[in-house]
Amino acid sequence: FKNLKKVDKEIYESMERELERQKRNIELIASENIVSMAVMETMGSHLTNKYAEGYSGKRYYGGCEHIDEVETLAIERLKKIFNAEHANVQPHSGANANIGVYFAILKPGDRVMGLNLSQGGHLTHGSPANISGQYFKFTEYGINKEDGRIDYDDIRKKAHEIKPRLIVAGASAYPREIDFRKFREIADEVGAMLMVDMAHIAGLVAAGLHQNPCEVADFVTSTTHKTLRGPRGGVILCKKEYAKVIDKAIFPGTQGGPLEHIIASKAVAFKEALEPEFKEYQNQVVKNAKKLAEELIKRDFKLITGGTDNHLILLDLTNKNITGKEAEKRLDEAYITANKNTIPFDPNGAFITSGIRLGTPAVTTRGMKEEDMEDIAESIDLCLTYNKEKEARDKVIELTNKYPLYKEYEIFKK
Ligand code: PLP
Repeated sequence: FKNLKKVDKEIYESMERELERQKRNIELIASENIVSMAVMETMGSHLTNKYAEGYSGKRYYGGCEHIDEVETLAIERLKKIFNAEHANVQPHSGANANIGVYFAILKPGDRVMGLNLSQGGHLTHGSPANISGQYFKFTEYGINKEDGRIDYDDIRKKAHEIKPRLIVAGASAYPREIDFRKFREIADEVGAMLMVDMAHIAGLVAAGLHQNPCEVADFVTSTTHKTLRGPRGGVILCKKEYAKVIDKAIFPGTQGGPLEHIIASKAVAFKEALEPEFKEYQNQVVKNAKKLAEELIKRDFKLITGGTDNHLILLDLTNKNITGKEAEKRLDEAYITANKNTIPFDPNGAFITSGIRLGTPAVTTRGMKEEDMEDIAESIDLCLTYNKEKEARDKVIELTNKYPLYKEYEIFKK
């Protein structure tokens, strides 16, 4: 960063402080991860200079021959990972990927079903605050109050009543495996199309640990920066028959020029995802989440659904006499980064909340294993049950020192 340091000291110094924060803190935000240096280098490259509206071989600008190579590699690798018929790697984000699918196949006012936001869904699955909820008639389905799991009977009942054009499956804060085949059955019963947003679990699917939604869904969307461990961005996978409408919905439908430096970086991350080590990594992510869940239960924490099948845990703090908002703050004082989260039927609402969402993708990338999850659970318990942030912080410092991050960035040191 020597050029940046010369040109813009303010940004350089903020970046330096953020690097120190990332090194010092235990990152438990379930949607975050730590990319490889190869992915990082590709993002910060000269590919950002190139306009390439259109698709490989059919661009609206000259000089795209090498960009075409890059984008084609990204597409072919992505299709291989998920055994998909068609892939679009241009969505700038997960939200753009979802809006792209809606724009491709829905008309304003069409009926759609999606998981309630406060019960684990995403804003783009029909929240009234989002374009999805304002342009289309979304009906929410939810979680079973007794066991905290997706209520497939509720979905079936509502689908038969509403006869939606599209059913959206997928979640941002759901700790269990989702039965995409059941979603397909329900969609077929009512003549609906099925879209799966696998943003959170894409890495687990890539490693064969969860059902592959590409086998049953008409459209699969994802982010590339969560468990998949690539740059921030989105993708869409679909059956061949929808290839044209999906591509048109992204460009020129909802986006302009693609971010080819990010697409190249996605391609690098996809190459990494095809390596055997990626499977081991994803296995460890799940093992760590299960161990963290077990250790928290031992310390009298309540978990929504009583455990986890994936990379995340949703803590219900109602028995600990602390809100999600306060818990997030206390954990931060102990250098543990996590986010407050509503629990199903949350009495405290979305701003205060009664829960905390924890995830293991980033700590697993850092090299942590099951024994370290015991230390993390102990630190969380010290903060949230005993109000001993100082003791927790000492434990965290020991742990982060044991697993140093981005040694390559020592260049930041003055
Ligand atoms: N879909 C799901 C299930 C998500 O959890 C998220 C992000 O949290 C998104 C879509 C949106 O992704 P982005 O933040 O890249 O727009």
